Amino acid sequence: MKPSIYNLTRDELIEWAVEQGQKKFRANQIWDWLYKKRVSSFEEMTNLSKDLITTLSETFCINPLKQRIVQESSDGTVKYLFELTDGMLIETVMMRQHYGLSVCVTTQVGCNIGCTFCASGLIKKQRDLTSGEITAQIMLVQNYFDQRAQGERVSHVVVMGIGEPFDNYQNVLKFLRTINDDNGLAIGARHITVSTSGLAHKIKEFANEGVQVNLAVSLHAPNNELRSSIMRINRSFPLEKLFDAIEYYIETTNRRVTFEYIMLNEVNDYPENAQELADLTKKIRKLSYVNLIPYNPVSEHDQYSRSPKERVEAFYQVLKKNGVNCVVRQEHGTDIDAACGQLRSNTMKKDRQKAMVDISN
Ligand code: SAH
Ligand code: SF4
Repeated sequence: MKPSIYNLTRDELIEWAVEQGQKKFRANQIWDWLYKKRVSSFEEMTNLSKDLITTLSETFCINPLKQRIVQESSDGTVKYLFELTDGMLIETVMMRQHYGLSVCVTTQVGCNIGCTFCASGLIKKQRDLTSGEITAQIMLVQNYFDQRAQGERVSHVVVMGIGEPFDNYQNVLKFLRTINDDNGLAIGARHITVSTSGLAHKIKEFANEGVQVNLAVSLHAPNNELRSSIMRINRSFPLEKLFDAIEYYIETTNRRVTFEYIMLNEVNDYPENAQELADLTKKIRKLSYVNLIPYNPVSEHDQYSRSPKERVEAFYQVLKKNGVNCVVRQEHGTDIDAACGQLRSNTMKKDRQKAMVDISN
């Protein structure tokens, strides 16, 4: 199988074209066909020579993903299950927001971080996605809306699907540069959010990249004991190291950081935890936000349940009293396997069941 041309940043495409004896502007034409006109075959690139089209087709494919399932929710959320060329499955979610279409992309097949509340971590990492496979998710969602011809554009991207983006650092970075490119999709850096479970050394590295995207950190607990018990990664990068990296990030980029905090009933949702959280973030109070996230039940993690409204409200009030910038995040697509990793794991379960039926027949 040929590699996807989406793997190339614009600079890399220019380099490739020049190596083929082409002028630089040819690469820009190709880029325009890919990301502005969004063609699905090289033959449609009508201002290129036949020879160049042949070379392109012999070297690359365009979209490396196959659409397996599309589910639309009553609130407008669309969830896609894509198959990679090696048969592995990934999922992508489009959420309709008041400010536009927001897409949540997957960066790895499975995840090795293994957080105790997450459906994605149930399956160990099989492999990293290439930058082209991450970009292709955006392209397929945009194509889906192009076909409706209502002029809707993917305007926001969240890197919060399956996988730990900083465990696939270079590919994610290439993906960010590709979708942000002014001559292509031109998704504004301020409209892109990368979420990490807290790989402190990578947060520092990311601070130095000069990409102006938003950073979200999955915190989920305000002290080391609790955090280590629900997120194994805290044993390698405890809160002291994590906050040292976050402070470095804020100083270097002058950007704010968002903390994600899943409300787990009677685990991390006590008013004392809210006070600890307020104290923990005090030093960066004006440069941070807290998102309180409703837990999406995952059947394999039945030790957790969602915090009831009153507990969320009490937690929120303690944060507010301490001057923490804080919102309670709304849910999307609860009627369509909403939790991150669920469509994929449920489809795999069905596939396994089907395979078992096939064998027994
Ligand atoms: N690996 C990265 C990004 C993907 S997870 C990270 O952990 O940040 C994206 C977000 O979904 C994270 O904040 C994660 O903690 C959260 N999440 C995972 N499982 C969840 C669940 N069952 N309910 C609600 N949020 C969940
Ligand atoms: Fe991986 Fe993020 Fe899920 Fe943790 S929450 S297992 S880091 S995808």
